[in-house]
Amino acid sequence: MKLAKRVEELPPYLFAQISKVIAAKKAQGIDVITFGIGDPDLPTPPNILDRLHRASDDPANHRYPESEGLPELRQAISGWYERRFETSFDPERECLALIGSKEGIAHMALTLIDPGDVALATDPGYPVYEIGTMFAGGVTIKLPLTRESEWKPDLDAIPEDLAAKAKVLWLNYPNNPTAAVADVAFFEKVVAWAKEYDVSICHDNPYCDVAYDGYRPMSIFQVPGARDVAIEFNSWSKIYNMTGWRIGMAVGNGELVDALMRVKSNIDSGIPQAIQEMAIEAVEGPQDVIDEHNAIYQRRRDRIVEAVRKMGLEVDPPKASLYVWAKLPDGITSGDFAARLIDECAVVVTPGRGYGLNGEGYVRLSVTTPDDQVEEGCQRMEDWKGF
Ligand SMILES: *Cc1c(COP(=O)(O)O)cnc(C)c1O
Repeated sequence: MKLAKRVEELPPYLFAQISKVIAAKKAQGIDVITFGIGDPDLPTPPNILDRLHRASDDPANHRYPESEGLPELRQAISGWYERRFETSFDPERECLALIGSKEGIAHMALTLIDPGDVALATDPGYPVYEIGTMFAGGVTIKLPLTRESEWKPDLDAIPEDLAAKAKVLWLNYPNNPTAAVADVAFFEKVVAWAKEYDVSICHDNPYCDVAYDGYRPMSIFQVPGARDVAIEFNSWSKIYNMTGWRIGMAVGNGELVDALMRVKSNIDSGIPQAIQEMAIEAVEGPQDVIDEHNAIYQRRRDRIVEAVRKMGLEVDPPKASLYVWAKLPDGITSGDFAARLIDECAVVVTPGRGYGLNGEGYVRLSVTTPDDQVEEGCQRMEDWKGF
């Protein structure tokens, strides 16, 4: 068979490899505890499920949906942004439903990148930004993130010619995998830089309501002028425990939203309408679940931070996101650490190297593990003699 280069050049999906190791351990009867993938363990809230049950009986929902999403859903998206971030969007021109934000992120590259074009993304970073660009024939130049710069790119360090050439900059705060957060000053700088060099900003914001100690993450659209240059991806997945239902959103610059809609309408036929109704219920129904879930994650975060510190890892307790990003002592790679931890303790963490060269030396632990397993996993790590 003659497969395309873009397929042959694909790196193996990070979690696919980890899933294989877990499956092999489980097949041997070993009780594996995973702090690996960030996928909320708690169920979708009951009011949202009730809405699905009712919506599934409606024959109107048995037919093809519209690619861009139900008008009611796009109004709900606009209303949610208005309540949450005090900025509203035209439901027709500036809001779009996605089959999970990952889908929109991957397809976004097709709207901005021609073969040979340059995209900027961070290292470490969520791998889909780079893969989407690669599928579109473009090249991603990585901006290094470091603990010293609080995991934010130094825009002043981007050479003039690179900035002039770049078509898009991908950002993600609260950040996966580093859990870093960004403030107004950072986003103001991003927007000014984007205008100076005519670069589109794609901000990925799925953790905007997964936060601790009273911290409130922002939207890039809380900065004046962002709408001239930016599109923001957001999602029901992490906030409302809806990863399995596959629904996300994009809002922002009308030209960017329209371009993505045009690409998508030639590829997919939208999201099952009953699921769109769930999404409407999620943002318009009671919001208490958000604080309830965050309180649970915060307790787990505290327990995990305690355990990794006892192991001798350094960690800044995260203000937001589902992740604890822990620094390993010198002399062990993240891959070796993760492999030994699963072998000797049957505990899974994600090697930072999977998110880029600058992720080396770190591991990521997710707080989406049930409480009793968090406790068991933390005890195993604390008791680990091999390290
Ligand atoms: C989880 C995650 C997504 C994907 O969310 P879906 O809406 O479920 O596709 C996107 N970006 C980042 C950074 C994530 O961590």
